[in-house]
Amino acid sequence: MSELNSSAKKAVIYSAVAPDEKQRERFLAYLTSKYGTQIELVWEKSDKFSGGFRLAVDSEVFDWSVSGKYRQLREAMERTSDKRDSDIISLLRDTIENFSPDVVAEEVGMVLTVGDGIATVSGLDKVTYGEIVLFASGVKGMVLELRKNEIGCILFDDDDSVLAGSYVRRTGKTAGVPVGDAFIGRVINPLGLPIDGKGEIKSAGYFPVERPAPGIIERSPVDTPLETGILAIDSMFPIGRGQRELIIGDRQTGKTAIALDVILNQKGKDVICIYVAIGQKASSVAQLAEKLRANGALDYTVVVNASASESASIQYIAPYAGCALGEYFMGRGKDVLIVYDDLSKHAVAYRALSLLLERSPGREAYPGDVFYLHSRLLERSAKLSHELGGGSITALPIVETQAGDVSAYIPTNIISITDGQIFLESDLFFSGQRPAVNVGLSVSRVGGAAQTKAMKSASGAIRLDLAQYREMEVFTQFSSDLDEATKNQLAYGQGLMRLLRQEQYRHLSQEEQVVLLTAALGKAMVGIPLNRIGDYKDGLLEYVKANASEVLTELQRTKVLSDAAKERIVTLATEFAKEFSKD
Ligand code: ATP
Ligand code: MG
Repeated sequence: MSELNSSAKKAVIYSAVAPDEKQRERFLAYLTSKYGTQIELVWEKSDKFSGGFRLAVDSEVFDWSVSGKYRQLREAMERTSDKRDSDIISLLRDTIENFSPDVVAEEVGMVLTVGDGIATVSGLDKVTYGEIVLFASGVKGMVLELRKNEIGCILFDDDDSVLAGSYVRRTGKTAGVPVGDAFIGRVINPLGLPIDGKGEIKSAGYFPVERPAPGIIERSPVDTPLETGILAIDSMFPIGRGQRELIIGDRQTGKTAIALDVILNQKGKDVICIYVAIGQKASSVAQLAEKLRANGALDYTVVVNASASESASIQYIAPYAGCALGEYFMGRGKDVLIVYDDLSKHAVAYRALSLLLERSPGREAYPGDVFYLHSRLLERSAKLSHELGGGSITALPIVETQAGDVSAYIPTNIISITDGQIFLESDLFFSGQRPAVNVGLSVSRVGGAAQTKAMKSASGAIRLDLAQYREMEVFTQFSSDLDEATKNQLAYGQGLMRLLRQEQYRHLSQEEQVVLLTAALGKAMVGIPLNRIGDYKDGLLEYVKANASEVLTELQRTKVLSDAAKERIVTLATEFAKEFSKD
């Protein structure tokens, strides 16, 4: 197109009737004043623009047809109806009375090809990456590929109504989602529309789907625990508000179960939860939403669902939409927990889009920027500084591995972006160790600062003890006659592993966890048969509540485990162990 700029520009008038000499002169005067070069004016007969004309100069178009004016009026009315709180009728009347159509230049391109939810468009020279474009039928698309003479867009609607040869307009806007407090308790799709049949959601504004992550100055260190209620996690891999902790494991190893338990445990803790389901069966998501509702957790949770039947574009945008919603709450000083379930499926959706956009496939056929895809998403979780309200977004991305292979492309990428991972193992899961946390491979790199003093001193040596146990277990696998000390060590380790078993929906408060850990690490559970440790745990908590509830209340109040309290708990636990062994 740039060659044209140097010589005469070609302007085309489309109308039903040819302009007369006077009109031509006026057009030419207008065009030369605007473009300042020689203009060649051509007329093309067209019946499409009844009651007016359309003037096209390169990719800029002046629409002066009835449909163009109608569209402008409609857009003006839509802008008005955003201000819903005021008197709508008078606002609309004002808009109509004051309305005068504008002759503004718009950039218009033409659809070259369309299919599989992708359209290629020519002529939109100045369009930007991520911009929303509007197709003639009203379908919206987003620019995801910029090439020399054409662009590639993903479509957010059925592509049936988008025809090759039809017009596409730039909007100058990037994709956004409606946000607001009214979204809490609702199930929505990634475009912010309700899919729970409970009617319209009143939004408080629009937030861009893609947004730069908060900078260093805007952040403060992670220092508040996000209690998961799961003993294996809170004791060894504590999560802080603002942290990103990956949950990774093969299929059916309890990944979603952990995320769900963490959400349920936030009841009464002033945390807003967002669960983003990507590429899952709609029925599983419905079940999860029902679980949340039944447990009263939907009162502080939003479910964003892009199920497996949705187009790859919708699945692609889902985590960003969820994050935008989270940013709305974070900006208002709230703590947010967001679960992306799961990012492997998200990467697959993006790979499908990229291949359809004819980008060259890289490792495992993923496009080269798949790392950036997830890093720019996860970097948006943060703990904001005091000046910015101190809100936070804690992210729990989930990744599915194939046969425990954490060194595949997507897992290694996301492991390197997050502050740690909880690695779930099939073997453990099937041996009955649930949650199936592999203690050796899991880590939380923020950790310490996000634990209460009590928890820190109670859980002191558990990781070390378990590491010793694992080593010894491997070492003694083949020998049958062991000395007494080794046998005791093994039994102690097995006991600890049992201690970490926890049923779904059975959260433990921090105090309860401290009691259990103190008892176990104080060797009060040695001697209890393995298959009875589960009962012993429940019994001990009951026993402490009944006989020494002040220990619990003090822990809750001070969040510190004094030496006296530690001794008291071990004594209580030993007492109870004697009683427990009797029956
Ligand atoms: P998928 O790969 O299909 O998404 P997943 O890894 O998310 O699976 P879940 O759906 O969370 O796994 O769990 C698989 C099954 O294991 C479920 O039936 C769940 O109820 C059960 N389960 C998970 N955790 C526990 C637990 N701690 N105790 C008992 N059962 C559990
Ligand atoms: Mg799952």
